[in-house]
Amino acid sequence: MTSTDTHLPGAGHGALSDGDGRLVRYPPDRVATYLADGAWRREPLGRSFHNIATRFPDRPAVITAHAAMTYAELDARTDRVAAGLIGLGLEVGDPVIFQLTNRLDTVVAWYGCVKAGLIPVATLAAHRRHEISDISRKIGAVAHIVEAGGSFDLIGFALGHGVGHPTMRHVITVGAPAPEALSITGTGGGAAPAESRLESLGVDVGDSVARQLVEQIERHITPTDVVAFQLSGGTTGTPKVIPRLHGEYWNNALWYAQSLGWTEDTRVAHLIPIIHNAGISCGLHAAHSVGACLVLATADARSAFALMDRSRATDVLIGHGHYQALELPEFDRARVHLRTVVLSGAKVGAELFARADSGDGRRAVQLFGMSEGLFTVTPRDAPARARQTTVGTPIADDDEIRILEPGSETPVPDEQIGELCCRGPYTIRGYFDAADHNAIAFTSEGFYRTGDLAKMTVIDGVRYLSIEGRIKDVINRGGEKVNAGEIELLLVRHPAVATAAVVAMPDVRLGEKACAYLVPTDNERLTLRDIQDHLAGLGVAKYKWPERIEWLSELPQTNVGKVDKKRLRRDIETKVIDENVALTDEDRTS
Ligand code: AMP
Repeated sequence: MTSTDTHLPGAGHGALSDGDGRLVRYPPDRVATYLADGAWRREPLGRSFHNIATRFPDRPAVITAHAAMTYAELDARTDRVAAGLIGLGLEVGDPVIFQLTNRLDTVVAWYGCVKAGLIPVATLAAHRRHEISDISRKIGAVAHIVEAGGSFDLIGFALGHGVGHPTMRHVITVGAPAPEALSITGTGGGAAPAESRLESLGVDVGDSVARQLVEQIERHITPTDVVAFQLSGGTTGTPKVIPRLHGEYWNNALWYAQSLGWTEDTRVAHLIPIIHNAGISCGLHAAHSVGACLVLATADARSAFALMDRSRATDVLIGHGHYQALELPEFDRARVHLRTVVLSGAKVGAELFARADSGDGRRAVQLFGMSEGLFTVTPRDAPARARQTTVGTPIADDDEIRILEPGSETPVPDEQIGELCCRGPYTIRGYFDAADHNAIAFTSEGFYRTGDLAKMTVIDGVRYLSIEGRIKDVINRGGEKVNAGEIELLLVRHPAVATAAVVAMPDVRLGEKACAYLVPTDNERLTLRDIQDHLAGLGVAKYKWPERIEWLSELPQTNVGKVDKKRLRRDIETKVIDENVALTDEDRTS
């Protein structure tokens, strides 16, 4: 591609044509208000990044263990990648499946797609056929970006996935050279063969040509257009697709950055998957919204803390899968530079709080958030009690919170627990293509029912939110949500399993893991390994597999005839506690 007169897709918007009703819009009067008062941006998200990059060209935008890029470099590189993607024939509004881990290429691919008007679909590298298949068809994904060189052959997986897929046309790789990663051609519109490597996209396009092309594309993007699809852990059933919009997504991140007082001197470390909404919003976009640097680490705590130390990270988000890691000596070295430790995902005990909030002006705060929208943060200057026991206050002035009696629209008073419901400039009004579920997931006034139990507490005259449990049937495995109902349906597909109930069991490191209570069809009692093989055969991501099974002759019932999951949770909690005590006693006597 050598000129800017390349075919531009115009307002086709790929799979998401405005008229098909699968996208639930914000009410027009809200959109008008949000645009008028600046809660929404008029410019597309890629332009917001470009404007920041122009302000801070020489500052570091991303540092990883292996690479770094300044804002100017990242901006130019992602312009060229955007041009390359458009050169492949991808069109504005086309969804692109992402299966990438925490690396610089992921950042490049993300902004490259966004600048090209394509819609990243935030699936995980850990996802498999069961997770990817329906969703990629539902949204009409046209390309699949995967990482080469991991322990699982993602390229082979993506190529296999594309066979017979009605819209999929390209497999694009990052990482180690992968000559076998040919594009999928001859399906869904018969596009020209794709360049197979992200690195090679745009190499023959000059920077100014690429910039002009991006600007041309941006003229076709409006604030109500989808910028990314996030996936929900779900409150019921299978994961749902969350449409985030150009108008709101960058400001969501900017409000978070502002709530923590970030500036261009901040260096924000991130350990959990960057592709999660928390990664994109609290890591990538939030850092970049103020010209700060993203220190992109991986989940291995020792190497993450070493990277944080080397790159003098000032702020870090610690998900509950890493709460214990703060005990490591490597954290002592990393924390010397830290100004704020953001804790998120589970209750914060006094010891953990003290370790994170350890003098020298260092503050521990808490974050509560969800891919559907709402974030709350305890301000750095909130009293210690509020920072330890609550998840703070909403980050945007226009955020609205209601605590309702579960299943009703009746608010409960402060200090009383109810279901957290929320509405606001960056909280969705509906999942994509899920009319039936949307009818129950939102109140009549458009508040999203989070499925989380919460209460409001007044401390020194300020109303703070705290999370007190959940109604939704999910297991929170170190931050990855596993939908119990989804796994139960897969388990009973095994002929030896009559019924199944999946519940959370406590785990010291991850907080929770899945335990399956099973009733056999006849006398055959499968092993855990058999069950895991069954799920592997169905193409289910490994992190969702139950890590323990318990056989029963029947599942306990409540007096309204539902499976008594509370009882099962208590049962497994007691067993795990007893076993841990027994193990500790054994340690003592051996
Ligand atoms: P996700 O959309 O994957 O980010 O998950 C959002 C869900 O994670 C929330 O609805 C909560 O159930 C849970 N969550 C997030 N932050 C916290 C927190 N600080 N404390 C307890 N649960 C949390």
